[in-house]
Formats: sequence, structure tokens, C-alpha cells
Amino acid sequence: MIIDGKQIAQTIRGELRDQIAALRAEGKRVPKLAVVMVGHNPASETYVANKLKACAEVGIEAERISYDEYVTEQTLLTEVHRLNNDDSIDGFIVQLPLPEHINELNILSAIDYRKDVDGLTPENIGRTVQGLPSIVSATPRGIRELLARYNIATEGKHVVVIGRSNIVGKPIAMLLMQRPYLSLPGMSAASLGDATVTVCHSKTQDLAAICRTADIIIVAAGSPNLVTASMVKPGATVVDVGINRIDDPSAPRGYRLVGDVDFEHVAPIAGYITPVPGGVGPMTIVSLLQNTIQAYHEYTR
Ligand code: NAD
Repeated sequence: MIIDGKQIAQTIRGELRDQIAALRAEGKRVPKLAVVMVGHNPASETYVANKLKACAEVGIEAERISYDEYVTEQTLLTEVHRLNNDDSIDGFIVQLPLPEHINELNILSAIDYRKDVDGLTPENIGRTVQGLPSIVSATPRGIRELLARYNIATEGKHVVVIGRSNIVGKPIAMLLMQRPYLSLPGMSAASLGDATVTVCHSKTQDLAAICRTADIIIVAAGSPNLVTASMVKPGATVVDVGINRIDDPSAPRGYRLVGDVDFEHVAPIAGYITPVPGGVGPMTIVSLLQNTIQAYHEYTR
């Protein structure tokens, strides 16, 4: 069965719109997100525009704060401190990547974890590791949500995560091994957590043999066709996070997007599988909206 991330994302946006409308009807303040954008990186411009549009669609207030690419680290830190202390802002993000002269970790570390709706501060990641309430970064939150919406329980299951990045591999591994009662609030009901998790990476030996023992494979490697049919146990769930551009002269833009899974041959044997595009990707912005609403309810209301 194909996990339809596009459909789920649309459903959740509808739910969030209803939640915000209910707040308005009660005469309450609505959540507000600020997005700090430095320079004019074209990809970042598109992402930021999409985030602001998504906020508007569900009724979250959003503000863009722009700096030119020559802004100093100190000026940016001052802005972060101002936002930390601005009671009208529930959450904010600093769009990455930042120009080279700015130390990203210094900026991220300065963000109050209660307003860190990208879930990238060392404090939020540390809290996730300890099973404390925290804000989870967009992609792992989206993956958890997809599993929950399809009632794919992880308790006692063997989950193989391929990739050990700070934004996908490590946090999703951490979340799925947690005891559920310590896991994060605000998620759909499902038995998520309590999995036995194996994390694989570029130095892992015999990836195929490890994958064959998996009930759930989550791959975030950035390598087309890394997961092939012979690596997947029949009936297993396969979550493909990878986004790779493949040259394709017949495509309108001269390329097409593929994931890390040989979808054509894996789909017939997998129990559930996410396509690329249309699987994990559409959940990313939805997660940001959910995180902003979470910050509003838990920390700043
Ligand atoms: P990354 O690019 O920082 O690192 C890749 C990871 O995969 C590393 O930990 C590496 O050890 C592992 N890896 C690479 N080749 C491997 C191999 N042959 N065997 C085993 N492990 C291997 O990771 P990232 O930032 O999590 O990105 C991974 C992929 O996910 C990229 O394609 C990225 O574009 C995509 N991505 C998608 C979304 C989304 O919303 N869908 C979000 C984030 C990242």
C-alpha cells in the first residue's frame, strides 16, 4: 500500500485550520511564527515563501524578517534574543543555510528551545534524547505522523534507519526507541516508540543483510536505488526520505526527483511504502505548522 503523504498533509492542514478557527471563535490570540531570512538564496526564498503561504492558509500569523547577506553574526544574535523575548511570537526559525561568515551553531544555540519550531537547538535535541517534552524537527515529526496515520505500530518492531544526520537519522532513531509514555505530546494516537532500532550509515557492513531483518526501513541517505527489492522482507514498511535529482531529458525541467529506494521493484513486496515525491516531503511544512501550534499551547499562550 502506498502511503500518501500529500493526502495526509492536506488532511492535517484542514485539521489545523479548524483548530485556529476555533481559537479565533473563542476570541483568543492565534499562534504567530517569525521567519528570519538572510540573503537571497533562491532555494531558501522558495522554502520561505511556501512556509509563509502555508501559515496564511491555516490562519497562523507569520512574519518575515529579512537581512542582507552581509549581516554580522552579532546583529543576527541580537535579533534572536529579541525574538526570544517577544511575547507576541510563539516560534521562529532562522532559515538555513546561513552565509559562511556566520557560525550556524552559535545562532541555533541562542534560540530559546521553547520557540525553536525547527527543533534544531542542541537543547531540543538533548530533550528528545532524554524523552522529555521537546519540539522535534520537521522531517522526523512528519515520518512519525505518517506511521501514526496509517496505524503502523512500532512497538517491538525492528526498525532499520539508514543515515545518521542530525536532522533525520539520529532523531527518528531516538524517537522510535523511546518508551511511548515519555514521548512527545501532540502526536496522533498510535503505538509509536518501543522499537528496536538499528542505525546504519556509510561505513556499515552488509547493509542488505541488516535490512532483510527489518520490519520497518527508514532511509535518508541521498543515494538513488540504495534500497533494492532483495533487501526488503515481504510485508515490511519502507519510508523513503531521500530526494535525488536524476537527469531526464524527457521531463519538463530536464530532471526528475527520485528517492533512495528502487520504488518500482520494492513497492510490490513492501507492506507500506512512501513514494518520492509525495511521501515524506509534503509533511515537512505541515510539521512546522504543528510545531508552531505546539509551542503556542505548551509554552507561550
Ligand atoms: P546527509 O545527506 O547529511 O547524510 C547522509 C547519510 O546517509 C549519512 O549519515 C551517511 O552515512 C548515510 N549514507 C550515505 N550513503 C550511504 C550508503 N551507501 N549506505 C549507508 N548509509 C549511507 O543526510 P540527510 O540530511 O538526512 O539527507 C539524506 C537524504 O534525505 C537526502 O537525499 C536529502 O535530500 C533527503 N532529505 C529529505 C527530506 C524530506 O523532507 N523529504 C528532509 C531532509 C533530507
